[in-house]
Amino acid sequence: MWLVSACLLGIRCRFDGGAAPDDTVVQLADSGGAVPVCPEQLGGLSTPRLRSEFRGGDGRAVLDGRARVVAENGTDVTEFFERGAQETLAIARRCSATRAVFKERSPSCGLTQVYVDGRLADGMGVTAALLVREGVEVASPEDPGI
Ligand code: SF4
Repeated sequence: MWLVSACLLGIRCRFDGGAAPDDTVVQLADSGGAVPVCPEQLGGLSTPRLRSEFRGGDGRAVLDGRARVVAENGTDVTEFFERGAQETLAIARRCSATRAVFKERSPSCGLTQVYVDGRLADGMGVTAALLVREGVEVASPEDPGI
């Protein structure tokens, strides 16, 4: 079983109320092996919502208490991202999901790149970082083998 970023299935859960459908992930869901999750909605944020980015480090640093997530109006929203990550991990365990396909560059789902201190940088989203730490294999839709 795979967890997938819900926006990659065409669910309109992105911060701007849009989606980011991806053919590969849609095919995965059509085969019956995908569970859609949106960590930011699971964490209690509304849709649409303000764009957010990291301050001081990426999702791994947030898990270690060394960085924060801040909305574009300056509000600290770290607790919502942490809660969303924990809820997503709970769903993974409930579904015995050992793999995930996540949306790149998201402060929750990003796998190799996220926005830190106003620029795109190498790093992971909060949920992606937590899942990897807990042994879930996280990939992007472009990865071979998805
Ligand atoms: Fe998509 Fe993840 Fe952002 Fe939700 S948190 S909109 S699933 S990238």
